[in-house]
Amino acid sequence: MYANGLDSYTMHVDDAESAPTIASIDEELGVGPPADTRDLDPETAARRYLNAMIASPEVPSISTADAETPATEYRTVRTETVPLTGSRIVKFAQYRHRIPVYGSLVTIELDEGNTLVSIGSAVGEPGDVDPVATISPADVQKVIHKDAGESAVLADPPRLYYYFDNTAEPNKWRLVYIAQNVQRHPPTDGDSPVPDIVDYLVDAHTSELVATLPRVYTATWSPDTAEALDGLDQKRELRIERDENGNRRLHDPERKVETYDLDFKKWNGPGTRLPGKDVLNPPAAWIPAAVSAHANAQEVADFLFNVLRRDGLDGMGQRLISSVNCTDMFEPSTTIWRNAAWIPMRAQMVYGQRPVNGELTSYAIAKDVVAHEITHGLTDRTAGLVYQSESGALNESYSDIFGILISNQHEPDVAQWNWEMGEDLNQTGIPLRDLSNPTRRNQPAHMDDFLVTGADNGGVHTNSGIHNKAAFNLITAKHNGQHVFTSSEVAALFYIALTQFLSSTSGFADSRRAIERAAKTLFQQNPPATRARKLAAIGDAFDAVGVSAL
Ligand SMILES: [Zn+2]
Repeated sequence: MYANGLDSYTMHVDDAESAPTIASIDEELGVGPPADTRDLDPETAARRYLNAMIASPEVPSISTADAETPATEYRTVRTETVPLTGSRIVKFAQYRHRIPVYGSLVTIELDEGNTLVSIGSAVGEPGDVDPVATISPADVQKVIHKDAGESAVLADPPRLYYYFDNTAEPNKWRLVYIAQNVQRHPPTDGDSPVPDIVDYLVDAHTSELVATLPRVYTATWSPDTAEALDGLDQKRELRIERDENGNRRLHDPERKVETYDLDFKKWNGPGTRLPGKDVLNPPAAWIPAAVSAHANAQEVADFLFNVLRRDGLDGMGQRLISSVNCTDMFEPSTTIWRNAAWIPMRAQMVYGQRPVNGELTSYAIAKDVVAHEITHGLTDRTAGLVYQSESGALNESYSDIFGILISNQHEPDVAQWNWEMGEDLNQTGIPLRDLSNPTRRNQPAHMDDFLVTGADNGGVHTNSGIHNKAAFNLITAKHNGQHVFTSSEVAALFYIALTQFLSSTSGFADSRRAIERAAKTLFQQNPPATRARKLAAIGDAFDAVGVSAL
């Protein structure tokens, strides 16, 4: 039998024998403050179930691991939606003394109401293995070089894990350093050598070489993940590709997000080939501008896919391409271009940069602005709102709304949302907006103050404030102290309205009707009183800014 040292457990609510477990978990959930799981994000809801599982004597594997292994914690790995079932699966990894237990995984499946559907867990009990390493990463490198020769290349610093050594006699838990993706160069014997990529596992107490684990060999770029600092000096999680030589590029194969470097060429100049060249690492770390562009585009693509169930801007898996380090042929500067734009004919983003404290800073750093610009691409593909006067203001407003929805997507509490647009790009020419209070940024917030002007395509960046305020009213609508809508519901409403019901010449009243129409279908299964309350909230949101349905 394959021994990985992990205790496994699975349970599904439809199982007849699950009843005592469910009852036990419910009992544990009853301890502490009551919470309506529907109002929680899936991670929080899953964590409540996880904590109940740990406390429950009916789930012995995980509760024993916890009792036997002090300082155990579970960290979220990922949350995924499975469209075929409509359920969400939250994955956790087990840590002990802040060190991951190799191979551990707890998966909690929830339905759309965050009710428990199934549980799977595989957790370990490293017991009394000392969590403090007595050798250093430099010692690990020596062990690797001794085994693979001085030419072996470590892609990343070694990291500590609890590892179950099933080759030891008897099998035992160890504290090991794992150096992932070590590139070995086998001696040549006439043929061209194929680089060999392996993970090295070295005992963190004895320096013993515990194992070398092969990585799957592929002749092409394969999916991987990486962490890197963006243009705001924040650590971002990236989905990337890695080739057989350990080269890494900013291509996310999951969502087809690709980021390129135009190397300060004029994006619209004769002879310039967009999107530019791949952003490779090695030889050097990725440039922060590219990390920002990639991570932010990824968040947009994730939002489209996870929240709106849309695969790419065209709904058919279209690539989402960004180019950083762009300049403009109509600007004399060879380094500065104060803009970020969706280029419809190229179906891609281009990002300029400007000096901040003597350093060139990319327009790709601001997540809300990136989401705003890419939403122009979505609008371009769907409603096609003409970019002038009221339809242009509506176009701007939908970009602002999705900019806010996407940049706040990881904040489940709407009360904590940031309603400002472009604040990271202050004093750069990007107009600032505040959806909660448009007048703060010199935008009207009511039809009475609609600006009639020939400038700015008929005030598209000004009158958008009116529709923005209606959106703010809708998103934050409350009944008896509770939000009327979840953030996903409002996203679905605006999304269905924009992509299904609006036309190129639609105005604010069309938008109100489109949203009301979307709501009638979306909340069809709600109790009549709830549905009526939601529809009334939409009407109130628009009435307050003077946009009637007629
Ligand atoms: Zn815009």
